[in-house]
Amino acid sequence: MNGGKQMYDIIFLGGGQAGVFGAYEAIKKNKDLKILVLDKGRMLTQRVCPKEKLGTCVKCPTCAIIYGVSGAGAFSDSKFNMDYRVGGDVHVLTGKVIVNETIQYVADIYKDFGFDEKPSGLEYNQVMLDLKKRCIENNVQLVDTPTMHLGTDGSRELYTKLVNSLLEKGVEFITERSAEGLIIENGEIKGVTVKNKKDEVENYFAKNVVIGLGRSGAKKLMEMCEESGVSYETGAVDLGVRVEIPDLVMKDINENFYEAKMIYHTTKYRDKMRTFCSNPSGFIAAEKHSDDVVLANGHAYKDKKSQNTNLALLCTKTFTQPFKQPFEYATAIAKMSSMLTGGKILMQSYGDLKVGRRSTDESIARLNIIPTTEDYVAGDIALACPKRILDNIIEFIEVHDKITPGFASSDLLLYFPEIKFRSTRIKIDANMETNIKGLYAAGDSSGYGSGLNIAAVMGILAVRHIISK
Ligand SMILES: Cc1cc2nc3c(=O)[nH]c(=O)nc-3n(C[C@H](O)[C@H](O)[C@H](O)COP(=O)(O)OP(=O)(O)OC[C@H]3O[C@@H](n4cnc5c(N)ncnc54)[C@H](O)[C@@H]3O)c2cc1C
Repeated sequence: MNGGKQMYDIIFLGGGQAGVFGAYEAIKKNKDLKILVLDKGRMLTQRVCPKEKLGTCVKCPTCAIIYGVSGAGAFSDSKFNMDYRVGGDVHVLTGKVIVNETIQYVADIYKDFGFDEKPSGLEYNQVMLDLKKRCIENNVQLVDTPTMHLGTDGSRELYTKLVNSLLEKGVEFITERSAEGLIIENGEIKGVTVKNKKDEVENYFAKNVVIGLGRSGAKKLMEMCEESGVSYETGAVDLGVRVEIPDLVMKDINENFYEAKMIYHTTKYRDKMRTFCSNPSGFIAAEKHSDDVVLANGHAYKDKKSQNTNLALLCTKTFTQPFKQPFEYATAIAKMSSMLTGGKILMQSYGDLKVGRRSTDESIARLNIIPTTEDYVAGDIALACPKRILDNIIEFIEVHDKITPGFASSDLLLYFPEIKFRSTRIKIDANMETNIKGLYAAGDSSGYGSGLNIAAVMGILAVRHIISK
């Protein structure tokens, strides 16, 4: 058994957005704290995706895009939402005021590291008012929150500076360590167990542990909770498609809102549909969780631009008794899709979907739009997507077309599946503390986060409670 002999004040299990901002807050408030960040991936500067050179995904055992210090945020488009209503719902535990105040606090940290952008979406012009009116006319809720946009490249620069400052202040990072279990005695956290690259078990000890494993580690966290008696409940699954459409169609939204978050309840099933993570002039990305779970995603760079906008259309599905495996359900759908494509994303044009015909490279080549990825197989989404979800997606596309004319055209490409794994909700209090004393859960894997803003807020709130003890 390897591992550290020393006792840490705080271990962050997962060095993503929640972990990095939590560590920043801890060392800022008390420079003498002994802090350790453990992560399955590598340090940010070593996170290199071979696809950048080879042009195609080579399916690394630990994907550098998903795993590694700074988390999913490091390669994300980094739209930072300045409002508690977007990025999670931890406010149901803490109240809205503290979340909004802490979001502002995080924005000020961004500023300290050289990112100072005026958020978009603050003042309404006539185009925005007309758009909002069309949303109202079509029963769509427009969640119009101010947003800052770092871009995928800008976000890398910012996180590099942030992580370097943590290293300078003595925060220890041990990478390529995969979470295995929790060390708990008499209802109190004592440390964590991880596995190194050689598959050897290591123990690290601390009085406080903040877990932030992100979406990529959500399943592992659920297993650990099950094993260690950490209370959790099953939550919802967000399942849908990422769509890509010429910028031209999205011009009004892109130029005025950058991203317009829309929520719609379908008339057929009364299910919740929402737009998520819109990337004007962006690129489609394949998010590889394992060989047979490859999901669609998207991002945008500050400098490199395409001529397409991509965004997710997600259906939030909550399940009732006796079913309690939403994670496995969504994974099974992803596997079925991968089965059809041999491990790529499944893509179909809306025109082909509507007439019940599979897309082919030839049918796609006839469109105005040029896909921004090659990690797809043109096919038939209806063979892998459950009817209810597909009906909801189609209804939402048609409604979106009334707000954004041209949206429901043949040039809309649908990439399947996009899934947000947040199916487990850890039972935490307003301080992010679980039923195990000293064990905190933050960010996406807690089930309360789905964006950079809320992950950072949760990491910071957990640390504030630890320091107050
Ligand atoms: C392509 C993409 C684009 C996005 N764009 C945006 C955006 O524009 N705006 C926005 O607000 N949000 C965006 N998001 C979501 C955002 O990145 C996440 O909400 C945020 O990073 C969550 O922070 P976190 O700390 O909870 O998890 P993460 O940042 O994902 O960090 C989790 C960490 O845990 C580590 N880990 C995982 N499993 C294990 C394990 N078993 N053992 C040890 N370590 C492990 C990972 O390596 C990672 O470092 C995007 C996500 C993706 C994938």
